[in-house]
Amino acid sequence: MNVLVINCGSSSLKYQLIDSETESVLAKGLCERIGIDGRLTYQKAGLDKEITDAPMPTHKEAIQLVLDALVNEKTGAIKDLSEVDAVGHRVVHGGEKFAASAVITDEMLSAVEECNELAPLHNPANLIGIHACQDLMPGVPMVGVFDTAFHQTMPPRAYLYGLPYEYYEKYKVRRYGFHGTSHSFVSKHMAEFLGIDINNSKLIVAHLGNGASISAVKDGKCIDTSMGLTPLEGLVMGTRSGDIDPAIIEFIANKEDLDIAGIMDVLNKKSGVQGISKLSSDFRDLEQGMNEGNELCKAAIEVFSYRVAKYIGSYVAALNGVDAIAFTAGIGENAPTVRKMVCSYLGYLGITLDEEANSHRGEDLVISTPDSKVKVCIIPTDEELAIARDTVALVG
Ligand code: ADP
Repeated sequence: MNVLVINCGSSSLKYQLIDSETESVLAKGLCERIGIDGRLTYQKAGLDKEITDAPMPTHKEAIQLVLDALVNEKTGAIKDLSEVDAVGHRVVHGGEKFAASAVITDEMLSAVEECNELAPLHNPANLIGIHACQDLMPGVPMVGVFDTAFHQTMPPRAYLYGLPYEYYEKYKVRRYGFHGTSHSFVSKHMAEFLGIDINNSKLIVAHLGNGASISAVKDGKCIDTSMGLTPLEGLVMGTRSGDIDPAIIEFIANKEDLDIAGIMDVLNKKSGVQGISKLSSDFRDLEQGMNEGNELCKAAIEVFSYRVAKYIGSYVAALNGVDAIAFTAGIGENAPTVRKMVCSYLGYLGITLDEEANSHRGEDLVISTPDSKVKVCIIPTDEELAIARDTVALVG
């Protein structure tokens, strides 16, 4: 079965065409600057990337261009659109309505719309992508895969905030968590890779990318995660603050004469390692800066790693132990410095790092020594493949 995986943002759209039997990527790419001018990147497996400027007034034109590229006579990955058997859509927020992926129907879409106010930037864009695909590929079965679904198994003690309960009752203010597709994929894959019985396991997944979150997974089910009502909570991220004293909001609003929107912009876009380093949100720049003696780059990496280590400690408590810890996503898979710094706080768990293994990147690999009491590993995430698998499971 060929599954087209669509990840639709407000002005961009990422796609992959995946052959579900071999789990290979037949073609992939992205549309950027939708609603502005438009640029299509397309890459058939084994060929070079093609970048074309093409008008994309809406997501519909963008998806039409993707479909045209997929069946292009010279570089197309398929001959005819009838070879797209299903479409899997990433949907950011499923609220409390979706604890698993779901086949897209009118009723299902109304339920997604009801979650829009919980993710006002993301969910409407996801829905636009779904409607555009329905218009262009009528009759093709489609599935929505939610970033929040995997975390729906959290118990109330983990998802309730210390706020008036009526905010939960009236507005559903609670912890939801994000990156669920990745936490689910990586926790399952690490259990397989390490030969651990997932139904009797205590695992911690550190998804460290530009957005970053950690989850505690017991017997294959999420019991806690660091992101909250929105992706702003938890770890220090590329440009997001993560946890702060809530009173800082009023203090800085007064000092800098900012309104709520201004403060949210600072917390989402100007904070994190970017804010601390005054230089970059990218760990390649920060590592280079640190190696050249830039103290703020060093501070940013240290604050980032220390926060990860503290969350791991709290999740060891939540799980009452831990069998294995996985690092994943851009930083987790590629930054030995961060992994080493995080593990330097975990000696009390009997963790010892294999320095040589830790110098590798981007592959399934155990990076703790054979005598380490807890296994530490790198597990590359693959959210598109996870979406394709869920799609096949529901409509295959
Ligand atoms: P997201 O999906 O949230 O945009 P990714 O998981 O793609 O993020 O991670 C992107 C981040 O990974 C980059 O901003 C950078 O900080 C980090 N990264 C990528 N490659 C490397 C590398 N070779 N060394 C260190 N950090 C890296």
